[in-house]
Amino acid sequence: MPGKPLVVIALGGNAFLPKGAVAFPHEQWRRVRIAAKTIVDVYSSGYNVAVTHGNGPQVGIILEWMEGLRHRIPPQTLDIANAMTQGWLGYMLQQAIGNAMEERGLGRRVATIVTQVVVSSGDPAFKHPTKFVGPYYSREEAEKLSKNRGWVFAEDPRGGWRRVVPSPRPHRVVELDVIRDLLEKGYITICVGGGGIPVTEADHGLEGVEAVIDKDLASAVLAIGLGADRFVILTDVEGVYIDYGKPGQRLLREMRVGEARRLLEEGQFPPGSMGPKVEAAIMFVEKTERLAIIGRLEDGVDVVRGVKGTIIKP
Ligand code: ADP
Ligand code: MG
Repeated sequence: MPGKPLVVIALGGNAFLPKGAVAFPHEQWRRVRIAAKTIVDVYSSGYNVAVTHGNGPQVGIILEWMEGLRHRIPPQTLDIANAMTQGWLGYMLQQAIGNAMEERGLGRRVATIVTQVVVSSGDPAFKHPTKFVGPYYSREEAEKLSKNRGWVFAEDPRGGWRRVVPSPRPHRVVELDVIRDLLEKGYITICVGGGGIPVTEADHGLEGVEAVIDKDLASAVLAIGLGADRFVILTDVEGVYIDYGKPGQRLLREMRVGEARRLLEEGQFPPGSMGPKVEAAIMFVEKTERLAIIGRLEDGVDVVRGVKGTIIKP
């Protein structure tokens, strides 16, 4: 729909489960409905909307299933596990968003695209895996698995040993054209789930790799590729804080990219959580000179409007 501004909304884990909650289907549906309402609120306030989402807890569940049953069913690879979560979470969002649209007489204009994201096989991350995935093991189990399967393990600060996999930089969204076509036709388009399925460009074509792409960075690559007017990251905190978790913590209402970069380099935003969000926002704002906003899922439309959350501006 030409004329309508386009917003890319990246949903965090809290769109499917509150932190630490058990993944009962009814609990996930309850959360997904809240996320769906927010998305449709944004859509009906006059935006075309692309939705991306994380998949950390769900990919963890799939890896546990695969490991638990590995003597009966050959474990699948990590790219396939990511694809499974795109179906799982894409389905839930697609149904809940569709229901919310029908309820408002908008028609069920929503689709999910299985999305691959190109990474470079020469990315240094392949030599230095850092991203924790799957179950926790004892030191002995980890040593055995590392010998038998060639996996790399590291000690998780939360306790126990876990497999670590590479987290390479996203370069390009393979399905960008079809995503753009759907958005222009007014479809809410769910894509780049779990940061996208990581693929490399091999001689014979694209090929999946054992890696995990950060969903915030991949969402920024999508937003830049689509020429989005606004890039919004919805999570479980009101916005970006300075001295987060310390007595004097302070919510930032807005910051310029330069300041964001300085604070990131100062270590205000940890690598596994707020760090990639701020970095993704910086990437988008520097490339497009438009606004990125980080805020709370429940504040949906207000965050998109910039009334709530933290605005990162040129
Ligand atoms: P998501 O699933 O949405 O990606 P994350 O857990 O990865 O969520 O990131 C959000 C979390 O980042 C918050 O719950 C908060 O605990 C943490 N966080 C760390 N540093 C900051 C900061 N400076 N400001 C706000 N939140 C922060
Ligand atoms: Mg995260």
